[in-house]
Amino acid sequence: MIPFIDLAAQKDRLGPRIDAAIAKVLAHGAYVMGPEVRDLETRLAAFCGARLALSCANGTDALALPLMAWDIGPGDAIFCPSFTFAATPEVAPWVGAEPVFVDIRPDTYTIDPDHLEAAIEAVQAEGRLRPRVVIAVDLFGQPADYPRLSEICRRHGLKLIADSAQGFGCTLHGRHPMAWADVVTTSFFPAKPLGAYGDGGAVLMNDPDLWERLDSLRIHGKATPSDGMIPGHDPKYLNARVGMNSRLDTIQAAILLEKLAIFEEEILARQAVADRYGAGLGEVCLRTPTVIAGGRSTWAQYVVEHRDRDGLAAHLKAAEVPTAIYYPVPMHRQKPYASYPRGPGGLPVSEAKANQVIALPMHAYLKPKVQDGVIDAVRGFNG
Ligand SMILES: *Cc1c(COP(=O)(O)O)cnc(C)c1O
Repeated sequence: MIPFIDLAAQKDRLGPRIDAAIAKVLAHGAYVMGPEVRDLETRLAAFCGARLALSCANGTDALALPLMAWDIGPGDAIFCPSFTFAATPEVAPWVGAEPVFVDIRPDTYTIDPDHLEAAIEAVQAEGRLRPRVVIAVDLFGQPADYPRLSEICRRHGLKLIADSAQGFGCTLHGRHPMAWADVVTTSFFPAKPLGAYGDGGAVLMNDPDLWERLDSLRIHGKATPSDGMIPGHDPKYLNARVGMNSRLDTIQAAILLEKLAIFEEEILARQAVADRYGAGLGEVCLRTPTVIAGGRSTWAQYVVEHRDRDGLAAHLKAAEVPTAIYYPVPMHRQKPYASYPRGPGGLPVSEAKANQVIALPMHAYLKPKVQDGVIDAVRGFNG
């Protein structure tokens, strides 16, 4: 069977560079917070138009750390889509807050600004929760509608997080989500567009004070210069707040430095794969992806819709074409999240999409001939 995501092809391309990068870390021995970590943070920030980047243990912690820094807690509402990976709403109960689920736009799968506004007003009218944060998700790699989202957040005094775990590197009108969001978060889980060889994550931001607080939180709340340090004491053992342990391993940073160097080229290669799918499948699927006007997707997934989605999945499996379903059950329908609030009128778009979406093989090294085989297999189901 052909791979759904071909990490081996990428490894072959990078060749001895990865092994050399790992060997260098083994030689200097600074396995935690070594020089590659700071180097990676500098390059990540430069890549996506942020002043600063802070690496951490995974993309879920990257979402939780800013919530902790902003003192989000009990009685606070965090608005987010339901049609997303569990990590997006999961961080709300972590800090004692509640997720409020908002529907998605039917064309781009990203959070619907109109429904968001209605949900904020409904929460305000009810008066039980305080609206504090919006988490937008760059689902399948494409940017959410940030100009509208940031305008809504500014008007209501809310923080805006761009969950770019799937979309790191995406742009809207040539600008990265950082141009609109308070923070952008990402994940280096191996299957993400910019993946490590293990877990990792990062928070991007423009505010140096926030960076300092996040740096404290990722290392057990260690004292920072603005907390007032005691001269002669290691700040690691002076704790200014309750934090956590969320660091990116130096080895993963060294690997990511090599992968970041070719990431822009890979995004372009993914775009070519997406274009080929679009040309081959335009008329046989209910829907091929729509990217927001002026948007550039990183194509974390290539998701099409089909009326008989399960029939198509079975047909492709028989043809030895791997597929995946993102996401079969929206979060507000899952047991741990079923009792949290939803925007007015519920989430009909999220529920309909869950039954129709199917993701096809997508990676930067998918050869045209192999991809044409996938296209033929999909077309064969209809004809
Ligand atoms: C993968 C993912 C995350 C979490 O990343 P981890 O590194 O696995 O913790 C968060 N949000 C979205 C939308 C994701 O796809």
